[in-house]
Amino acid sequence: MAQQESLEFRTEVQQLLNILANSLYTEREIFLRELISNSSDALHRIQFEMLTNRDVLDPDAELAVRIDFDEEARTLTVSDTGIGMTCEELIENLGTIAHSGAMTFLKELEEGQRPADIIGQFGVGFYSVFMVADEVTVTTRSYKPEARAWRWTSRGDSHFTIAPADKETRGTTVEIKLKEDAAEFASAWRLEQIVKKHSDYVSFPIYVRDKVVNRQTALWRKSPQEVTEEEYEDFYRQLTLDFEKPLLHVHLVTDVPVDIHSILYVPRKRERGFTRLPDEYGLRLYSKKILIQERNQDLLPEHLRFVEGVVDSEDLPLNISRETVQSSRAIRQIRKALTGRVVKALRSLAEERPDDYRVFWDEFGLFIKHGVTTDPTARDGLLPLLRFYTSRSGDELVSLADYVGRMAEGQEVIYYLLGSDRAAVESSPHLDYFRAHDLEVLYLLDPLDGFMIQSLGEYEGKRFQNVDDPELELPEEAAEAEEGEEAAERLSADEFAALAGRFKEVLGERITEVRESKVLSGSPCRLVSPEAGPGRDLDRVRRWLEQDFEVPAMILELNPRHPLIRNLAHLVAEQPGDPLIGAVIEQLYENLLLLDGLHPNPSQMVPRIQRLLEAAVRR
Ligand code: ADP
Repeated sequence: MAQQESLEFRTEVQQLLNILANSLYTEREIFLRELISNSSDALHRIQFEMLTNRDVLDPDAELAVRIDFDEEARTLTVSDTGIGMTCEELIENLGTIAHSGAMTFLKELEEGQRPADIIGQFGVGFYSVFMVADEVTVTTRSYKPEARAWRWTSRGDSHFTIAPADKETRGTTVEIKLKEDAAEFASAWRLEQIVKKHSDYVSFPIYVRDKVVNRQTALWRKSPQEVTEEEYEDFYRQLTLDFEKPLLHVHLVTDVPVDIHSILYVPRKRERGFTRLPDEYGLRLYSKKILIQERNQDLLPEHLRFVEGVVDSEDLPLNISRETVQSSRAIRQIRKALTGRVVKALRSLAEERPDDYRVFWDEFGLFIKHGVTTDPTARDGLLPLLRFYTSRSGDELVSLADYVGRMAEGQEVIYYLLGSDRAAVESSPHLDYFRAHDLEVLYLLDPLDGFMIQSLGEYEGKRFQNVDDPELELPEEAAEAEEGEEAAERLSADEFAALAGRFKEVLGERITEVRESKVLSGSPCRLVSPEAGPGRDLDRVRRWLEQDFEVPAMILELNPRHPLIRNLAHLVAEQPGDPLIGAVIEQLYENLLLLDGLHPNPSQMVPRIQRLLEAAVRR
């Protein structure tokens, strides 16, 4: 291309430009954060390139960002000695949106968020400059010795132009003609203020005119005693753009067995409403203060992927390629150290700040369970982090150690109950016996809990025992005491047999057997697994994952002392043709599925409930 050429922006860019240019937004200053961040990326990239390649333009240029302005002319320039762009790169990078943050931003807008509320939380990127600019010119020259310089210009409408330019030095200069109402940005103190606020920890010097204004310290290289709480929080905000404070930080400085300087954070929320896609996790990895990877995923196990932060080590070879990072011995040692420290910090959080731990558990508990289930080497460290509701916990959460610590005398196993929500399991018939005898039962409410309990098997020598086990061993005398009280009101063996026969007739294949319960007191009936195998712990996972999940056939246990069962037996004896009998049996069965978290489609029950209600009102 020898002459100037005019090109059209992609549709999404036009859309974004429109919004940015017209938004009355008080924090317009973030445009500078975005430009500096682009420059810093470009500087990191040339620094990385030069580790292995000295054949670049201006190899000795200082790696820095320079900001200059002209108050009279209302202009501002931001330049860097970064990697620069070729003509193709310029068109590709500043004509389309490849950038995920900007796309998420547009999506949030479609969902009705106001731009002013969310711009600051997004890395909206280069185009945010049009919040303050009438016209922008980008002049850039790639590091490749044979490349030439190019100029990109736009007024933020639907077009930009590209033309060859004169620029002797490597890097990129962004020239901004400020809007009339954005004159404030052509001022030294204002620019310094913005740089300090948003870009203080950028690791290259940022000059406003000839003065370096950012602190540029690698905070992680300081000793933890020298760093204030506020500095940790500032650094977190600049690193993640999360405006909420993190739940905790870990600052690790050590040199044996491997050199590590690292600051890690546990955020407060999983979804932080900005730039990140689900697989965009990982830590910033530096080697001797040079950024070698933006998001390294090998420094922590997958179940700790919610952790944010930076890691720097002297023991990584500088020319380590992104591919060999994974297999490096130093990385494995670092991973071990970081993992241990994070888990330890979480344990302290649980002990020292239970309210914050609860926030953590609600957001990230699933990750911990995932680790317990899938990573046997991590298990022991993670077990103390698990929390459950139980039949005695109320709104508190209970650890396995709490549970075991208060087990009843003679209790040998840890009882658990699977279900899909707390309200449902609270009224589960399985709890009758345990309530009556003050035995605590863990509630397992996440679909994955079944997997987890299967893979655990036991805790401190105590087996996990599902309360719907067919052969649940329970002390005899307890059941007898209840019998004494109500023996007079029991069904006769014949009455019971007739009723059981009727249940079997109505429910058919759905149940394997109807039998009398030894454990029920307040509830009319319950479902019991025909065998104590692992299958049913996984049924809830299957119900959750499989569209055509079929409820497995189970044993139905009836409580012959319960008034509903007694009356139903009398009805069967006296008016066997009453259509209500079938409806009641069906409904009792489905109630149990619902309480056990196994009902495939609860709303199907409504017509029958309606019929039962009509019958009840008629009487
Ligand atoms: P993002 O930086 O999030 O990718 P931007 O819209 O800010 O999105 O920038 C788009 C691309 O333009 C960048 O990814 C980068 O490749 C290129 N770019 C922007 N500014 C510079 C710069 N100062 N030096 C080199 N490349 C740049």
